[in-house]
Amino acid sequence: MAEAISFMEPRADVLARRSTIVADLSDLLAPECLIHEARELVPFETDAFVSYRRVPLAVALPRTTAEVAAVMKYCHRYGIPIVPRGAGTSLSGGAIPQEDAVVLGLSKMNRILDIDYANRTATVQAGVTNLNVSESVSADGFFYAPDPSSQLACTIGGNIGMNSGGAHCLKYGVTTNNLLGVKLVLTDGTIIDLGGKALDSAGYDLLGLVCGSEGQLGIVTEATVRLIAKPEGARPVLFGFDTSEEAGACVADVIAAGIIPVAIEFMDKPAIEICEAFAKAGYPLDVGALLIVEVEGSEAEMDDMLASIVEIARSHSVKTVRECQSATEAALIWKGRKSAFGATGRIADYICMDGTVPLSQLSYVLKKTAEIVHGYGLRVANVFHAGDGNMHPLILFNANDPEDAAKAEAAGNDILRLCVDAGGCLTGEHGVGIEKRDLMRHQYAKVDLDQMMAVRAAFDPGWILNPSKVFPLDGRDAA
Ligand SMILES: Cc1cc2nc3c(=O)[nH]c(=O)nc-3n(C[C@H](O)[C@H](O)[C@H](O)COP(=O)(O)OP(=O)(O)OC[C@H]3O[C@@H](n4cnc5c(N)ncnc54)[C@H](O)[C@@H]3O)c2cc1C
Repeated sequence: MAEAISFMEPRADVLARRSTIVADLSDLLAPECLIHEARELVPFETDAFVSYRRVPLAVALPRTTAEVAAVMKYCHRYGIPIVPRGAGTSLSGGAIPQEDAVVLGLSKMNRILDIDYANRTATVQAGVTNLNVSESVSADGFFYAPDPSSQLACTIGGNIGMNSGGAHCLKYGVTTNNLLGVKLVLTDGTIIDLGGKALDSAGYDLLGLVCGSEGQLGIVTEATVRLIAKPEGARPVLFGFDTSEEAGACVADVIAAGIIPVAIEFMDKPAIEICEAFAKAGYPLDVGALLIVEVEGSEAEMDDMLASIVEIARSHSVKTVRECQSATEAALIWKGRKSAFGATGRIADYICMDGTVPLSQLSYVLKKTAEIVHGYGLRVANVFHAGDGNMHPLILFNANDPEDAAKAEAAGNDILRLCVDAGGCLTGEHGVGIEKRDLMRHQYAKVDLDQMMAVRAAFDPGWILNPSKVFPLDGRDAA
């Protein structure tokens, strides 16, 4: 598995100038902001897509936008690849470096700059963690809506890079729907501001373009995000079904009826067992699939919405409906769901896929996913944002067995092709990264990819920003 995906050929001229580059960077940054000793570079060799590793040339950890600009200007001048990095929790290899790259880490830029309740915005540096934004405004009754399960660690800059989502994005939208502005350092070191506190801006939507651009259009150093007032109340409810197909069909019908809860999360039997063993959340163990549906609002609003959802669930032979009785129980239910990936890691190695499908295809794709994985002799656990159709099959395998690892990767690719063929796409929230780069050809025609690469080249003509990601490696030559 480890060599199945290749990186761009490292530039011999850059590697040959390594000591000069380190010396030059040390003129731009304080000693504690530059890492270049071999052993200290190791933690930066990969991200949460741990199957691939490359030790970078150096790691720059600037403290200000001006320092980011200085590093960019220098690297641009000498054609040195740059790989932006937040917390390195990418599941698609987005932050994995290459040998000739300077990793530009934003971890030292972790200050909340402005909380503006009148306009309901927060302006933060890119290295602030996702959870920190909500925690900073929680006491005043506000929160930041996108809530990736990795929110304790992942950064706002990384969330923008991947256009991240989370369990509660069904109602409030993903990062792009909650992002109002960014300060962006372009590849030549120019600093620009896109968007601001207003809801819209004139001209092309460059902010929308930057969100989800995986660090290839510039480095985000600051972001202005939307704050949302906490609801009067919120209630997660557990719905247990005999089969995954019934649960999937129920989700499709709830959304088709125009009902939008805050969250609809799905777990199949293996996922329920794994999460329950870890979190003791009280999930029913006698069902084949579970939905966590969260509604919010006043008691009357929640009762109303739940009554409609229960009626739809009954038409799909729901077996268990359990309303949670206390805030502690609600927290446990979410703890179980949000620790699903970590809990799975306790029992096996796994790769997490991230395809999205139209809701009408959910039941079909779930059934086919199981067939694909079992066809390779492997096991699968499904835990995902069902309301968005954003599937996360976790393919379990033994990473110490190269044959098993190759099968897991092949099964994952088959599942992603299935999602595309069912009218969906390769990624709902984890990005393309290095993992799905070559599958982009399955999703897009050459003309589409060429157009995207032309946009990229307008920002980064030298192709130095995160160069091995998103597009097939030979795409640039073929364009
Ligand atoms: C246990 C676990 C659970 C997860 N759950 C979710 C989930 O529920 N939802 C979800 O969407 N994702 C999830 N993820 C994936 C991951 O956490 C997200 O992709 C997250 O947004 C990455 O943030 P990061 O700070 O770690 O960025 P990194 O992994 O460091 O980088 C991600 C990408 O953004 C680019 N980048 C980083 N910072 C900047 C910047 N300042 N400017 C420009 N580009 C930048 C990088 O080059 C890279 O391409 C999960 C990951 C793990 C390990």
